[in-house]
Amino acid sequence: MNTQDIVSAAEAVKAAILANEEHIESLDRAIGDGDHFINVRRGCEAIVALKGELQPLPPAEAFKKIGMKLLSTIGGASGPLIGSFFISMGKELDGLAEPDAMQFANALSAGVDAIKTRGKADVGEKTMLDVLIPTSRLLLRLAGEGSDRATLCVKLKQEAESNMLATRDMIATKGRAHFLGERALGHIDPGAKTSQVAVFAVCDMLTVGATS
Ligand code: ADP
Ligand code: MG
Repeated sequence: MNTQDIVSAAEAVKAAILANEEHIESLDRAIGDGDHFINVRRGCEAIVALKGELQPLPPAEAFKKIGMKLLSTIGGASGPLIGSFFISMGKELDGLAEPDAMQFANALSAGVDAIKTRGKADVGEKTMLDVLIPTSRLLLRLAGEGSDRATLCVKLKQEAESNMLATRDMIATKGRAHFLGERALGHIDPGAKTSQVAVFAVCDMLTVGATS
């Protein structure tokens, strides 16, 4: 993985988030305050706008720059969470010019741990972590087993989708939705949805036209 992959992934995620506007908006209107789509779109646009500054940087510095930018760009609960996710990924990749799958998997885990720490949340609380924790664990396992890219992407997408759907049957214990108690049942968590959309976009970007 190099910094051009990060820029391509950001462009792919932005397009996928825009394509899912209606769904994401309706989820945060149902169990949040309706701003999640706007927050995430703003974050995607900020990353894509940094393209020229990111390209000369090694992946570690590119992720840190993205994280710092997001801390000051995205509002809501998700801004600091997603900002610290990228900064921690960057720190984990320090000194690596072109991280391999295992190194990227370790960085993703470090990023997800930062969200857990900052959000004081874990699996089962009806948040983005319900997608990010199992998906990053699966990536660690598959990368450790030396899975090829196509298999890895198919499995990661399945994991992200099933865990996103599972948030429908959860009561929230973190975030605004926890004020709703049982009224949050029956609604997918918006952060889980945007996380699944991002996983799909990156996996699709990595596998289109790829042979391994
Ligand atoms: P806000 O809740 O401030 O309006 P957003 O609408 O942008 O912010 O983001 C809401 C999403 O953030 C939720 O759907 C959930 O996935 C995630 N979230 C909220 N609180 C936490 C937390 N403590 N830890 C992890 N994720 C959280
Ligand atoms: Mg919101």
